[in-house]
Amino acid sequence: MSNVERDPVSTSCTRGPEATEPALHEVEILTPRDVPLGGPRSMSVRRTLPQRARSFVGAWCFVDHYGPDDVARRGGMDLPPHPHTGLQTVTWLFDGEVEHRDSLGSHAYVRPGELNLMTGGRGICHSEVSTVRTTVLHGVQLWVALPNEHRDAERDFQRYVPSPIRKDGAEIRVFLGSLLQAVSPVRTFTPLLGAELILEPGASLTLGVDATFEHGLLVDEGDIELNGTALSPAQLGFLRPGIGSLTLRNTSPARARAVLLGGPPFEEEIVMWWNFIGRNHDDIVRARRDWEEQSERFGAVEGYAGERLPAPELPNATLAPRRNPPSS
Ligand code: MN
Repeated sequence: MSNVERDPVSTSCTRGPEATEPALHEVEILTPRDVPLGGPRSMSVRRTLPQRARSFVGAWCFVDHYGPDDVARRGGMDLPPHPHTGLQTVTWLFDGEVEHRDSLGSHAYVRPGELNLMTGGRGICHSEVSTVRTTVLHGVQLWVALPNEHRDAERDFQRYVPSPIRKDGAEIRVFLGSLLQAVSPVRTFTPLLGAELILEPGASLTLGVDATFEHGLLVDEGDIELNGTALSPAQLGFLRPGIGSLTLRNTSPARARAVLLGGPPFEEEIVMWWNFIGRNHDDIVRARRDWEEQSERFGAVEGYAGERLPAPELPNATLAPRRNPPSS
């Protein structure tokens, strides 16, 4: 998906004097803000990353959660060709179907349970449109920051359909990294974990995880206790590295669902503005100019009926880099 805010802000997330890191075993609760995606009846998304308190979970740097949206009422998704740099996009749906086209020439239908990972290092562009078969649209859009040595990675588009594994009243789909006995074959540029977890009512599930990773649990539906801390739908529970075991308990009377993200702390500073990630203000200015000049850097999307998405105006201020507060 695109960040189609009219006036995207680049948030500086340096540590303030009042900012404190959670204690080792404490779950930090990140609450989303609603971001309208433009247009009179258009969708809005719930964004938990980035926010002032936190910029990353591992190299995961952008977490948008949307739906369930009635497409008949909200109009569905229609994102014209738009660019990306310095990142990978992860599309994961719970409901609905999205038609993807990109400047590699990929043409794919994104469906629930199917990972679609697009790499836009130096530059790529794509369009995303919910199909006429879609009545309800529901899912997450996630971005992964590329580390400096791979920031100009070639365009790439990978798909993967993980087989569900079952344990203790839970159904788990590991789309990136490894968890339990599942290992995703999908290539990433830093170690990552990405998995969907569905918990039956009353289910309690303990997972061994990599203690060098930090973790984030985004609750989609139901109420889930993560290591004893209650999380509501749309909240992201964050845990620092040093934790080797996660216990999830579905405390709601119905099924609960969440997405688990993880990775070693991403120590680099990035500048993120609109759909671009760079290392400094000038990177962003160049990317914006290249997009506006229809440079070969981004290529072109074939088969989308309509115009490209123009870049918003840059703010007058210099875009500041952001990183997580240092670990204490
Ligand atoms: Mn996009």
